[in-house]
Amino acid sequence: MNVLVINCGSSSLKYQLINSDSEAVLAKGLCERIGIDGSRIVYQPAGGEKEVTESPMPTHQQAIQLVLDALMNEKTGVIKSLSEVEAVGHRVVHGGEKFAKSVVIDDEVLAAVEACNDLAPLHNPANLIGIRACQELMPGVPMVAVFDTAFHQTMPEKAYLYGIPYKYYEEDQVRRYGFHGTSHSFVSKETAAFLGKNVEDMKIIVCHLGNGASLSAVDHGKSVDTSMGLTPLEGLIMGTRSGDLDPAILEYLGKKHNMDLPALMNMLNKESGVYGLSGDLSSDFRDLEDAAAANNPAGIRARNAFNYRVIKYIGAYAAAMNGVDAIAFTAGVGENDALVRKDICANLGYLGVEFDEEANNVRGKDALISKPSSKVAVVLIPTNEELAICRETVALV
Ligand code: AMP
Repeated sequence: MNVLVINCGSSSLKYQLINSDSEAVLAKGLCERIGIDGSRIVYQPAGGEKEVTESPMPTHQQAIQLVLDALMNEKTGVIKSLSEVEAVGHRVVHGGEKFAKSVVIDDEVLAAVEACNDLAPLHNPANLIGIRACQELMPGVPMVAVFDTAFHQTMPEKAYLYGIPYKYYEEDQVRRYGFHGTSHSFVSKETAAFLGKNVEDMKIIVCHLGNGASLSAVDHGKSVDTSMGLTPLEGLIMGTRSGDLDPAILEYLGKKHNMDLPALMNMLNKESGVYGLSGDLSSDFRDLEDAAAANNPAGIRARNAFNYRVIKYIGAYAAAMNGVDAIAFTAGVGENDALVRKDICANLGYLGVEFDEEANNVRGKDALISKPSSKVAVVLIPTNEELAICRETVALV
């Protein structure tokens, strides 16, 4: 079955056409600057050159039409007609407490996703626009919503409640939801499979370290805690997001610099993290590594603070699960930055981690990076959210 996987943002749209039998990506790409001047579509068929075409796309529907046209292009297309797209899998950011699993999309589901818009005002409306545009252009094709929050719905109350008046949970649904769920689910399962074990028999900590970063504690296949919260701002120090901080900082800085709440939130989301810590040097770990190698203290302090926060969360999740069998690194930083992995694992000896520096010189493929005798297995497992969405879609249609 061919599954079109769509990840729709407010002005961009990423897509992949995947054959679910071979799990091969037939074509992939993205539309950028939808609704803005200078929009363009990037299209790359498997084994072919990347094509970039400037083309007006005032709406998401026009963007998706261009994607379908590219997939069916006589010369570079990978399908002959629309009937070869047999299902569509949509990434949806927030499913609130309503969705603990992926679902086939119908009118009731759309209404329930819309009801979660307040919880993710930047993302859910864009996801809905993408779904509706696909429904218009591909009537009758089954569509599935795969939620970033769903995997974490198994968290117990003690992990998802904040220490604020309970009425804010009851009346306003303020609680930890967690994100990157598709990745945490995929990587925890792949970790167990790679180690020749059953995920239901294991305690796994997944470190999803990318521009956005989160950790999860996966106990016998179920997420029991995760570092992101009501929004993706909580937890680790990220590319440009602050992660955890004393909430009173908002009042203190607001008064001192005459900043209102939108300005403070912008600072925490866009100007903080390793970017802010490095004095605006970069949010990209490659730049920070180069800077650190040149003894630039800005690069060193940003990386050290980032690593330290991950180390603390690993300790917390080992405690939460009363043990850990495997720790998995994934996403842009986790898959590519051997030094980050090494520096984090240097502090995990107390858990029985025996790190293998030689095996750690690896990038972008499943690998064991601890010694065979290590009490806790440390692995590198590349994440693949599109494939995970494709698998979920096939399972439901
Ligand atoms: P993601 O959000 O998972 O796509 O991760 C993107 C981030 O991964 C970038 O901002 C970089 O910080 C990091 N990254 C990508 N490639 C490398 C690399 N070769 N070495 C170190 N960090 C990398």
